[in-house]
Amino acid sequence: MTLDFDEILNKSDFTKDDLIFLLNAEDEFRKKIFARAAEVKEEYIGNKVYYRGLIEYSNRCSKNCYYCGVRAGNKKIKRYQLTDDEVVEAAVFAHKNKFASIVIQAGERSGKVFTAKIETLIRKIHKATNSELHITLSLGEQSEETYRKWFKAGAHRYLLRIEVSSPDLYIKLHPLNKIHDYQTRLDCLRSLKQIGYQVGTGVMIGLPFQTIDDLAEDLLFFKKFDIDMAGMGPYIEHNDTPLFQYSEQLLPKAGRFDLSLKMVALLRIMMKNINIAATTAMQSIDPQGREKAIMIGSNVVMPNLTPIKYREDYLLYQDKPCVDEEAEECRGCLEARIKMAGAEVGYGEWGDSKHYKNNLHA
Ligand code: SAH
Ligand code: SF4
Repeated sequence: MTLDFDEILNKSDFTKDDLIFLLNAEDEFRKKIFARAAEVKEEYIGNKVYYRGLIEYSNRCSKNCYYCGVRAGNKKIKRYQLTDDEVVEAAVFAHKNKFASIVIQAGERSGKVFTAKIETLIRKIHKATNSELHITLSLGEQSEETYRKWFKAGAHRYLLRIEVSSPDLYIKLHPLNKIHDYQTRLDCLRSLKQIGYQVGTGVMIGLPFQTIDDLAEDLLFFKKFDIDMAGMGPYIEHNDTPLFQYSEQLLPKAGRFDLSLKMVALLRIMMKNINIAATTAMQSIDPQGREKAIMIGSNVVMPNLTPIKYREDYLLYQDKPCVDEEAEECRGCLEARIKMAGAEVGYGEWGDSKHYKNNLHA
């Protein structure tokens, strides 16, 4: 017996074949997916959107991921690291403006000096904000001991994208060596979860060599790993990276954007109460990209709080939006955009993933 589109869309659990079928949907079928996802969001999440003030702490990185503009091998960029005062100032801005939560993101580095620095920073931020801010880290792969130290110092959440869930594809996008190992990344995700972080992961969409089959597997990976938060967005090529040579094989940007929207919508249907970010990469392809994502499933946005003078140097990909907008300006513009998307900013609320909270009480 073959099921029709609506029967598949209304299933409670998608198989890989269902997901491939849905990811390929066009026209009115594509709209049906979005409508269903919006319905699920309304029922399980409501219309609140939470802010995570993004602090791009440093573009120093020891790795060489083939897709990324701040990879160690890119000698064209000026490397920077914020001072402690600059980080605390950005955190205080977030606190005063009732963002309730910040993300500290940087290139990956290990070593005692770096890890101790982060620990101190976490404590300084808590002191300056009465421990009222929730702190998310996105600092790549670290030892379990480091993750524990940071957790103890007061970090609550961790974002570590698996980038692609297929080990075969992972190899094509990273140098083949010990510091770019798929299994290590997976182990890191496991230890973060075990330590008690709210764990977010995600993938890039529309990469060279990536197929719809891979994306279906990515969605199943999120479900199986039982993630609390997701951040997914289109892959956007960067001139000064090895992957740039495959640019001609890529889907047009509009197609990558559309696939990203479908991924968000399907994930919302599959994992009803997790937090899903409307990512900056979506906005960089479509000026209304984040609003579109909010309408069909996302409930988190990450306004950029990095001091302007550093932003041009944190270009993970080209055409990153808002590189010249002060935090204050950005805040006003974003609130208006969120309202236009029929949502409301959850000021002063941590906006923890309901999924994480439910699991704690389970
Ligand atoms: N170094 C840390 C965090 C910073 S990179 C880490 O790698 O985990 C944050 C994210 O930027 C990466 O996880 C990746 O998914 C995304 N990114 C890097 N290059 C990109 C590109 N060319 N297009 C879209 N996203 C990109
Ligand atoms: Fe470094 Fe992260 Fe970019 Fe990889 S994706 S090169 S780890 S900043």
